[in-house]
Amino acid sequence: MLVVVRESSYEYDQLRERLFAVMDLVGGRRMGRGERVLVKPNLLSPARPEEAVLTHPLVVRAAVEYVLEVGGRPVVMDSPALGSFGRILREGGFADALRGLGVEAAPFAESATVEVGPPFGRIEVARAALECPWVLNLPKLKTHAQMLLTLGVKNLFGCVVGHRKPDWHLRLGVDGEMFARLLVTIHEVVKPAFTVLDGVLALEGQGPGKGGTPRPVGVLMASRDAYALDAAVCRLLSLPPEDLPTLRWARRLGHWRTEPEIDGDLPRVDNFALPRTEGLLVGPPAVQGLLRRHLTPRPVITAKRCENCRLCVEICPAGALSPGPDSPRIDYEACIRCYCCLEICPRGAVAKVEGPAARLFRLVTGK
Ligand code: SF4
Ligand code: SF4
Repeated sequence: MLVVVRESSYEYDQLRERLFAVMDLVGGRRMGRGERVLVKPNLLSPARPEEAVLTHPLVVRAAVEYVLEVGGRPVVMDSPALGSFGRILREGGFADALRGLGVEAAPFAESATVEVGPPFGRIEVARAALECPWVLNLPKLKTHAQMLLTLGVKNLFGCVVGHRKPDWHLRLGVDGEMFARLLVTIHEVVKPAFTVLDGVLALEGQGPGKGGTPRPVGVLMASRDAYALDAAVCRLLSLPPEDLPTLRWARRLGHWRTEPEIDGDLPRVDNFALPRTEGLLVGPPAVQGLLRRHLTPRPVITAKRCENCRLCVEICPAGALSPGPDSPRIDYEACIRCYCCLEICPRGAVAKVEGPAARLFRLVTGK
């Protein structure tokens, strides 16, 4: 499947021209005829564009302008994990970027139930994502504590409305593999028509929130196939695609069959800092469950950076965080290693840290 790659900056005239070009090449002009187009950026939480946590507001503007030019009716939607949608639009620069275009921007509100079969049964997904005839997916290139990277497939977890997200983390517990399978299932339900990745300013290290480090990469990438696009990003970062849990599951479930066919030049990106995931897990599933709790890195709060806002306490799906005098306390027996606290912390005060058991295991096994 075709993946178009073009160098770009956020200088608007260039960005607009490049985004129009990549969209044309993947068939974007098929949208139109007055149909609604759901534009789905990553609007995780309030963050400034230079923090590289959200899809850049000018990428969203260029995408909206493209939809308008081809005759579609764009609506910009997401379901943030933290903060009001209005605040994200203001602080993230989206309100300014979209001014004058007359486009609707709103949070997902209503869910609809979809039967997806085992193992998940019925899942609830934003009704708008199901009903819009076209979905234009606009992920950010950034790392993710649990899924390694959050790209095209992972971006659609934003189509699960508000409080349902922590519910899923709680239901799936420490099992990152099941979470990856859920993400692939949600992707299959939403089926974006196009995915355009903002890799101009990426986020490496302890992403996907403010604990990550912005890293200029300078690319826009587009495809009709989010799996192919995610695999092309793996190639960009010299990473085997099987290292992405979502691609492993997409392959296993038969949704991802073909290697990306790349139009354009992938820039050289050396030593992109990735978070360490569950590479230590070995053995049969029952043993893995036991190992997971002891070997999966723990969230650790750096008290010096913490402003004790307690947002992490509010979001923790397992109730593992409790208020403390200077910073929250973590009950590691209750913690399910979902890293929602890391994702949400406005100060980047939560990090993933390997415990002594994991360090010993690495020493013994050489992993
Ligand atoms: S760790 Fe982060 S989210 Fe939690 S209280 Fe401290 S600053 Fe707030
Ligand atoms: S403490 Fe953090 S990683 Fe552990 S369950 Fe709560 S939000 Fe998830």
